[in-house]
Amino acid sequence: MAILELKNVKRIYQTKKVTTEALKGVNFSVEKGEFISIMGESGAGKTTLLNIIATLDRATSGTVVLNGQDTTSLKDSEISKFRRRELGFVFQDFNLLDQFNNRDNIYLPLVLSNEKEAVMRSRLSGLKGPLGIGELLEKYPYEISGGQKQRVAVARAVITNPALLLADEPTGALDSQSSETLLKMFRTINSTGQTIIMVTHSLRAASYANRVLFIKDGVVYHEIYRGENERQSEFVERINQAQFMLNRGEQ
Ligand code: ADP
Repeated sequence: MAILELKNVKRIYQTKKVTTEALKGVNFSVEKGEFISIMGESGAGKTTLLNIIATLDRATSGTVVLNGQDTTSLKDSEISKFRRRELGFVFQDFNLLDQFNNRDNIYLPLVLSNEKEAVMRSRLSGLKGPLGIGELLEKYPYEISGGQKQRVAVARAVITNPALLLADEPTGALDSQSSETLLKMFRTINSTGQTIIMVTHSLRAASYANRVLFIKDGVVYHEIYRGENERQSEFVERINQAQFMLNRGEQ
């Protein structure tokens, strides 16, 4: 079942002097349980695409169906509730609130949805082990490392059991060891059925996904799947080659 389906999505930015067609008709669908990386050069349209999937921006035309709901037809008054229910976010710069300890940061989306404390506790207890955050909960974000912060941010993103986890350069501010740890966690979360879309510049990060979409000039230009028994190093090399060809204008 497709959890996300984009059909002919266009986004035109119009200023007084300039019209920019950032997305020129994006088509793709994501099956439940997929882990997808999105790559593309600066200016290709990745941020615009992610913002539209995230319901933070509206397409100029086309449809985006997420978990059975056409988000392009949601009223403004319905959007934030829909976003809270269906989407989890992980950003490059963590976006944790320093005035709350890590436990309360993780609980925040459930607090906003008026969830009962018993539900919050039981959801968190299921995440402690896989995300290695048990020792971090009483601390504050400013007391822990970047890699630890990102694990807390992942817990906050998935504690609502979102239909889709969106990650925007999640390893962008991490050293290579913390990046590997985080990406392995993404894989663990994905193996439990969580659908993930991750925008990244990193070949290594992209290779953790099962499919890589390449965006160029506002369209999905190319995609490659990881082979069932393909070694990660081989997939990295194929992504590298695809990117190289794409940047030269071939496919
Ligand atoms: P990427 O994330 O791949 O770098 P973006 O989605 O940020 O690409 O940008 C795609 C195109 O849309 C670029 O040409 C960019 O200059 C333009 N663009 C992005 N945001 C705006 C905006 N708010 N107003 C006008 N043009 C924009």
